[in-house]
Amino acid sequence: MEIPEFFNAQLLSELEALSGTPCYVYDEATIRRQTDIMKKFPAPFGLFPRYAMKACPTRAILALVTGEGIGIDASSGFEIDRALRAGVDPTAISLSTQELPSDFDQWIKKGVKMNACSLSQLRRYGEKFPNTSIGIRFNPGLGSGGTAKTNVGGPSSSFGIWHEKKEEVRAIAAEFSLKIERIHTHIGSGSDPAVWQRTANLSLALVREFETVESLNLGGGYKVARMADEVSTDLLKIGEPVAAALTEFAEETGRKIRLEIEPGTFVVANAGYLVSRVQDVVDTGTGGHQFLKLDSGMTELLRPSLYAAQHPISIIPRGRTVEDMEDYVIVGHCCESGDLVTPAPDDGEKLAFRNLPKTQIGDWCVIGGAGAYCSAMSTKNYNSFPETSEVLRSENGDLNLIRRRQTLDQLLANEI
Ligand SMILES: *Cc1c(COP(=O)(O)O)cnc(C)c1O
Repeated sequence: MEIPEFFNAQLLSELEALSGTPCYVYDEATIRRQTDIMKKFPAPFGLFPRYAMKACPTRAILALVTGEGIGIDASSGFEIDRALRAGVDPTAISLSTQELPSDFDQWIKKGVKMNACSLSQLRRYGEKFPNTSIGIRFNPGLGSGGTAKTNVGGPSSSFGIWHEKKEEVRAIAAEFSLKIERIHTHIGSGSDPAVWQRTANLSLALVREFETVESLNLGGGYKVARMADEVSTDLLKIGEPVAAALTEFAEETGRKIRLEIEPGTFVVANAGYLVSRVQDVVDTGTGGHQFLKLDSGMTELLRPSLYAAQHPISIIPRGRTVEDMEDYVIVGHCCESGDLVTPAPDDGEKLAFRNLPKTQIGDWCVIGGAGAYCSAMSTKNYNSFPETSEVLRSENGDLNLIRRRQTLDQLLANEI
């Protein structure tokens, strides 16, 4: 993925006036393109696509995505509240959480659906809502995350109810007369159709054992290529074997299972950009490195530090044209050596460099692939840097501020 040409001097000066840097810019056209693809995921007996809002939960983004007829996957009670405040219909929200809030019943009463992600969650639901329906998140015993940190299936993962505990699930469901109507299996990032086929088959084996199940939720984890040498998931292609498995299952059992998917990354990852200014250029002498220091860093973009994730980076010189190229290591503004924007892909501790136009202080730096798990997941307020602003670039090219920059007063508001 390249940084698009619309990041020209004109847009950047407009952005400077609107919000200053650092700032996230989200491209509406890209989000709509992704949601259009999602809605076409092959599903012979009906599809309900959801957006995993933890990827980027800003209100304008939630409104844009749900306006396309897409539901919400929430990961906490706070996310539910946030989606409701953004105007999302409670019945379009499904909760799959690692921490069931003590007051979760208020959301269920409003119509939010829940997938029990542990036996204790199932029991707590049953105690509050006997004689109703529920979904079960299983860990099917298989994971395919890109890294150990993004793998959410298999024996090393705590997510969902381990697939061998079916009898315990049945016993609790029977105790409270719960109808198990959904099965959920989300196993992490992958783009390989063969892995999705195996997941679909493992999941359908669970559906087979629970005869009251009406829909299967395969979660998210559809990887996208941020860098040119990475592979994007072809959603329609990985959907084919899944759809075939559902059809075959129906022929065999007479049960027409509806499908749900809930991507986060796929919707927003490549729609988002982090726009920064280079605020210093330093070097460590002969045999050392040249460093660009941004006015952003792990406070806005944690993925490189956390996963050695690679993001496309462009330098846009300010007020001049540049022919010469140089190798630069790019670092963030935090006093923390781990605040490295360009780690080596195979070893996050090692510095890597990018070959970029010869840069001066004040030049623009645009980092792509920054829509998912960036604004939403950062070391916000570290070194007391305020939370940054967010801008939505509309389909006609207009820039709209969707979140203001935090002030120091807001950062201190709860201190006593
Ligand atoms: C995080 C999450 C997703 C989305 O994952 P992506 O990799 O962003 O697609 C979907 N479902 C559940 C339950 C999740 O926790």
